[in-house]
Amino acid sequence: MAPSVVTPSIIDDVKIHVKSGHANVAEAIEAAKTRFVERNPTSLKLHEEAVKSLPGGNTRSLLHTAPFPIYMKSGTDYRVVSEDGHTYTDFVGELTAGLYGHSDPLIQSTLISVIKDVGMNLGATTKFESQHAALLCSRFNLDLIRFTNSGTEANLNAIQAAKRFTGKRKVVVFTGGYHGGCFSFPEDKPTENSVDLDEWIVAEYNDIESAKSTIEGSGDVAAVLVEGMQGAGPAIVGTHEFLHQIQESARKVGAVFILDEVMTSRLAPGGLQELEKLSPDLTSLGKYLGGGITFGAFGGRGDIMRIYDPRDGKALAHSGTFNNNVLGMAAGYTGLSQVYTPEVAVKVNEAGDSFRQKLQAISQGTKMTVTGRGTIVGIHFVDDGKKDIASNRERRDNWGLKELFWLELMEDGFWMTKRGYIALILGTPDAELDRFVECVKRFLERHEWLLKL
Ligand code: PMP
Repeated sequence: MAPSVVTPSIIDDVKIHVKSGHANVAEAIEAAKTRFVERNPTSLKLHEEAVKSLPGGNTRSLLHTAPFPIYMKSGTDYRVVSEDGHTYTDFVGELTAGLYGHSDPLIQSTLISVIKDVGMNLGATTKFESQHAALLCSRFNLDLIRFTNSGTEANLNAIQAAKRFTGKRKVVVFTGGYHGGCFSFPEDKPTENSVDLDEWIVAEYNDIESAKSTIEGSGDVAAVLVEGMQGAGPAIVGTHEFLHQIQESARKVGAVFILDEVMTSRLAPGGLQELEKLSPDLTSLGKYLGGGITFGAFGGRGDIMRIYDPRDGKALAHSGTFNNNVLGMAAGYTGLSQVYTPEVAVKVNEAGDSFRQKLQAISQGTKMTVTGRGTIVGIHFVDDGKKDIASNRERRDNWGLKELFWLELMEDGFWMTKRGYIALILGTPDAELDRFVECVKRFLERHEWLLKL
């Protein structure tokens, strides 16, 4: 298969530095794509099979890449191996769900013992769910919690609870917010596949005035839903003042303040809310808290959560066949109680901060910008070189450079999402983080002429 043609929008006519050996970005991308095709013939073959039964060969839009996606065969610890036989350090980290890596022995033995000694699909209440619930409540300061199959469902149910509790209908969200497949707000309105299209009011992320006037001035606001750091950005950090304004305004108008911690709960023992001293009414959770198994949860104030108490004849129904699947309940509990202890959470996030700071240091004076907190890092290529990107609207992405970076760093053995999102996995050696910094440095030097501000 020939490499796909680079679209004019990502063609940059600036000549690149002679060191890279290419005349411009488009040419460098084409050369990298040619190498990509040569290095990954098995992935191409598998993709050609997949398109016969999956639209575009894909069942998760984020993982689509042109000319075809890389197929992974297996993973051990912090690494993955592709069907083409290449080993990568896994920086995707399953978008934070893969915190424990691919073969944590405690998670493995929990899963195996549940499969062998408990059995699957008991179709009943088990002690595993209350055990995990109690741990999550104490760790994240929640009165009550409910489980779901995903972070998307967690937000869905949290919003329904807020609507019932307040008797109101509207939900304030923020530009660039992502709260699940059907709750996405890259610009100032929901994407076409979002649900309840007329119930959202989109305010500007990290804009205190916009948050205040929208929440306090819109009327009929049942809930305000926000990420303390936006994942899709990638990794655009909400300011302390902005997040506290949301909390204050929501309280003022009696709206439920829902903090989406599906990604950020891993940033501290008690999540980002602990770091920012926030006290949301409800918190949504997901990802690694199921120990690598499909998972979601939402919880918080007892008076709101009791809306789902089935002992009350008027309760809202909350269903989901796999809400209490024993594998996720048990693996999630093992992970949080024995692997991601509060001490470990503090330590790895400090390591993540120092990793990000090294990347920020080497990218000074270039179009590369590095954002994030703790173990979550966002790599951006922006034409104005702005280092403190506060919102999606402020980003002037250079998609060509982003693609080139993704292709070339993959050749150095780093598996990342094309959008430049990194979620570190426990046990990734410091030496490997340093090697990444070195490789990035070489990338910046190789394409200096193109990347320099
Ligand atoms: N909220 C946030 C902040 C997320 O990052 C995600 C997933 N990336 C979700 C919700 C949805 O979670 P899930 O993919 O488990 O539905």
